[in-house]
Amino acid sequence: MDDRQFRTAMGKFATGVTVITTELDGDIHGMTANAFMSVSLDPKLVVISIGEIAKILNKIKESKMFTVNILAADQQELSLIFAGQIKDPRQVEFDRLDGKPVLAGACVQVACEVSTAHVEGDHTLFIGKVTDIHLEEKEPLVFVNGKYRELVGIS
Ligand code: FAD
Ligand code: NAD
Repeated sequence: MDDRQFRTAMGKFATGVTVITTELDGDIHGMTANAFMSVSLDPKLVVISIGEIAKILNKIKESKMFTVNILAADQQELSLIFAGQIKDPRQVEFDRLDGKPVLAGACVQVACEVSTAHVEGDHTLFIGKVTDIHLEEKEPLVFVNGKYRELVGIS
C-alpha cells in the first residue's frame, strides 16, 4: 500500500478542523490539525496526534499544555494560515481561556493540560486533561477528501 492510497482512504473520514495552540516563554504557536478525538467523560480527556516533524511538538512537550480550537465554517483562512498554506505571515489575535491562548470566533475552545504522551509511529499522541471549555452557537468547518466543506442538512 502506498502513502497516497492511505491518505485518500483516510480522507474519506469527514472531520472538523481544529487549530491546536500552545505557549512557551511568551510565544504562541498554532497548528492546524484534524486528528482530534474525545477520549473520556470521567475524567474529561481528549487526544491530539502531532507529527514528528511539526514544530509544535517540542513546544507542547515543554509547556505541558495546549488548546484545541474547533474552527467555525467562516474560519477556513485560519486553517490555511496554521497549516503553513498562506506564505505571507499574518497577524492573528488570541483570546485567553484558563490562561491559555485560544482563537476568537471558534465554535469551541478547549483548554488542556497534558496528561500523558505516547509516541506511535511518526506521530505523538497527547492525552489532554480538559481544564475549561468555551462554546459558541456556530456551524463547524468540515474537511473531507482533502477539501473544506460546510454542513448542509438532509431534508
Ligand atoms: P509551522 O509550519 O511553522 O506553523 C504552521 C503555520 O502557522 C505557519 O505558517 C506559521 O506562520 C503559522 N503560525 C504559527 N503560530 C502563529 C502565530 N502565533 N500567529 C500567526 N501565525 C502563526 N499535522 C499533524 O501533525 N496532525 C494533524 O492532525 C494534522 N491535521 C491537519 C489537518 C488539515 C486539514 C491540514 C491542512 C493539515 C494538517 N496537519 C496535521 C499538517 C500541519 O497543519 C502542517 O504540517 C503544519 O504546517 C505544521 O505546523 P508546525 O508546528 O510544524 O509549524
Ligand atoms: P491528505 O489527502 O494528505 O489527507 C487526507 C487524510 O489522510 C487526512 O485527513 C489524515 O487522516 C490522513 N493523513 C494525511 N497525512 C497524514 C500524515 N502525515 N499522518 C497521518 N495521517 C495523515 O489531505 P491534504 O489536504 O493534502 O493535507 C494537507 C497536508 O496536511 C498534507 O501535507 C498532509 O500530510 C497534512 N495532514 C497531516 C495530518 C496528520 O499528520 N495527522 C492530517 C491531515 C493532513
